[in-house]
Amino acid sequence: MPYAYDDTNIFARILRGEIPNKTLVESAHTLVFHDIRPQAPVHVLVIPKGRYVDFAHFAAEASAEEIADFHRTAARACALLGVAPGDGGAGFRGISNAGDNGHQEVPHYHLHILAGRPLGPMLSHG
Ligand code: AMP
Repeated sequence: MPYAYDDTNIFARILRGEIPNKTLVESAHTLVFHDIRPQAPVHVLVIPKGRYVDFAHFAAEASAEEIADFHRTAARACALLGVAPGDGGAGFRGISNAGDNGHQEVPHYHLHILAGRPLGPMLSHG
């Protein structure tokens, strides 16, 4: 079944400039901005500018250029935030939720980057 992208989702509206965001870094194909309800001292969202619903959709249909740009911009964000272990940072966690069981709320592919304190085990409950 083809992926159905909802152009009314909140990240599509951010990308169209209809609602504001707190941008950390932007590239040709990728935007990184601060989460409005941070779950850790550092919490940003990495999103492709293209219309992709989730990780599998992005991996299947994005161009190699978009995919490389996404990951390099995510790494650039980690460097800017000072959380990348390779640069002497204390580390971070990347999470991408998908679908109902993944508790994905916004149907536009995004990678959460969380950092700024010890984050503990990956799942704290459930
Ligand atoms: P998920 O549950 O993985 O789909 O995560 C969606 C994330 O988007 C949540 O962490 C929300 O706090 C965040 N979010 C929702 N609306 C906005 C917004 N307008 N600006 C920044 N982050 C948002």
